[in-house]
Amino acid sequence: MSVDTPRETHKFQAEINQLLNLVINSLYSHKEIFLRELVSNASDALDKLRFRSVTEPELMEGGAALEIHILPDEEKGTLTIEDTGIGMAHDELVKNLGTIAHSGSREFLELVSQRGQKDVNLIGQFGVGFYSAYLVADHVEVVSRAAGKDSKAWKWTSDAKGTFTVEPAERATRGTSIILHLKEEQKEFLGEWRLRSLITQYSDYVNHPIKLQVQKTTGEGEAQKTETQLEVVNKASALWQRPKSEITDEQYQEFYKHLSHDFEAPLAWTHFRTEGNQVFTGLLFVPKHPPFDLNSPQQRGVRLFVKRVLIMDRCEEMLPQWLRFVRGVVDSDDLPLNVSRELLQDSAVVKAIHKHVTKKTLDMLEKLAKDKPEDYRTFWQGFGTVLKEGLAVDTEYREKLGALVRYESSREEGLTSLADYVTRMKEGQEAIYYIFGESRKAVVGSPHLEALKKRGYEVLYMTDPVDEWAAQGLKEYQGKPLVSAMHADLKLKETEEEKREKEQRAKGLGPLAERMKEVLKEQVREVRVSDRLTDSPCCLVVPEGGSHAYVERLLRERGRGLPRTKRILEVNPSHPIIEHLKALQEKEPASEQVTEWVEMLYDQALLTEGSSVEDPNRFARRMTALMTQLAALKVPPAGAVASGPETPTSDAKPTEGSAVAAGPETPLPRN
Ligand code: ADP
Ligand code: MG
Repeated sequence: MSVDTPRETHKFQAEINQLLNLVINSLYSHKEIFLRELVSNASDALDKLRFRSVTEPELMEGGAALEIHILPDEEKGTLTIEDTGIGMAHDELVKNLGTIAHSGSREFLELVSQRGQKDVNLIGQFGVGFYSAYLVADHVEVVSRAAGKDSKAWKWTSDAKGTFTVEPAERATRGTSIILHLKEEQKEFLGEWRLRSLITQYSDYVNHPIKLQVQKTTGEGEAQKTETQLEVVNKASALWQRPKSEITDEQYQEFYKHLSHDFEAPLAWTHFRTEGNQVFTGLLFVPKHPPFDLNSPQQRGVRLFVKRVLIMDRCEEMLPQWLRFVRGVVDSDDLPLNVSRELLQDSAVVKAIHKHVTKKTLDMLEKLAKDKPEDYRTFWQGFGTVLKEGLAVDTEYREKLGALVRYESSREEGLTSLADYVTRMKEGQEAIYYIFGESRKAVVGSPHLEALKKRGYEVLYMTDPVDEWAAQGLKEYQGKPLVSAMHADLKLKETEEEKREKEQRAKGLGPLAERMKEVLKEQVREVRVSDRLTDSPCCLVVPEGGSHAYVERLLRERGRGLPRTKRILEVNPSHPIIEHLKALQEKEPASEQVTEWVEMLYDQALLTEGSSVEDPNRFARRMTALMTQLAALKVPPAGAVASGPETPTSDAKPTEGSAVAAGPETPLPRN
């Protein structure tokens, strides 16, 4: 390096270094995607220029056409990707090609190194596509000149060994040239046929002409001569503007891949043009699998074009947050080209587009569910949770979303739609019932389901935290209310006989009810006779307006202090334990054992709803003591005489007071 060259050396940020190491040493498949990434950057740079020139026409000065050139040079062993786009000034080169401008690099590293995903194909999705240049090159030069008067050109170089340099350079026009010094074994990427087919495969839908430098031989014999020409190799037209009938499925799929940097084909798409009030074209895709950052705020929106000019890469005003997984293009004829963020936010045109695009997306999903249930299941697994957010926040789409949701149910493993549930509803069943918990396993045996099971009613298993709010938002489907089996007001239709029986039972608890209230006065809001229990002694139900225990737990785990809703303890007076407790209470109103057993019953109710008991050690000690006592009854220690019933199981119904009277006297451990 000569002394008078003002060449600066910069260090790559640590994460970029890691990324580069990985790109160079670990990724072997699909190396050819470097071309897609660099062409995509060139195309972005041209789009940015076109967009900015709407308000700053002087940026177009110099007149160079908006094009991408691909220039192979056999002699030098270089491949150059050149554009006449927005270009980069000194600081932009340093920042964009040396530091973590995007959060994606960390996620990409984690995907490749920890999850062992060796496929480089995803790199573009993570916003680090530029570095894919090092898949095929060991030395890269970037010569760039920002658009605008008096701008200077700069050269960035690096062989990816920890540092890069920046120095002044010469460039006749605005734009960027990426010069790849290809590794010896990657020289295939200089071949015309190879380049041509890669461009058609990956970059056919780039909106700007991609010109490949080729050698053309003309003339015969003596007059024969070879000359260098630039030949347009892509279609360079907006796919969404072509008539549907002229577009093949493969073309739609490739366009999606180009747009999303996804390597998998989309699950579904819809392509439409509206006339009338708002003239716009939409082409929307549903991906097959969720992207790594599905829940990040940037993860939103489709590309907005105005009269073919790209205005915004991710325009969140086009779709609601809960459709953030949709990819695609909206091209409006009505918005002004110099549309600003503020204008987007309160433009009536945008609101109308938003509504229409949302509807079109939901229609597409409905069609997918109907025509391709398998694919819809894939969709639901990946995006169901996101879609359900819509029920919680947008009542406007309740009907349509109701038709799209899927749940596990008590009928059989697997998902069901609400429509199918409704067709299976029993004579006299007035509501759609659901239960809410961590997993199918956690809710399947819940006491809350007993009365419903007895009637043969199907129950939906809601196991996704968002379901709590989604079900509240949905409220009803086809006129049938959604009712939680865990809520207090489970109004089941009763026969006369059931009514009489219930009244009979309501009288049933006697003084035990008061005692239970006293013992649990800190824990529960109310103790009352249950009409939902048939096999279990008791359960906890959520009062009107309260949240399910599962949701409260989740919120607490996430540090969102939510006051614990005091729940209602429902008791089944015809259960043997309760009958015995009642007898004991009447016989010995001050019995300590009643207190202990009431506490144990409460602990059990906590466990069955998936909550944890307040004092697990005490609970375990008491269980052990009980089991020991029962074991002693069944198999008396040597010398002792058995005095209890033969098989003290819960459904044995001994005569009133007998088990208690015969039971051991030692109280269970108190603390
Ligand atoms: P992404 O394209 O997702 O932003 P990349 O790693 O591909 O991530 O590129 C990083 C950044 O470098 C781009 O955001 C852009 O600012 C800049 N850049 C890359 N190539 C060019 C180019 N040809 N012209 C102008 N800027 C470019
Ligand atoms: Mg890129």
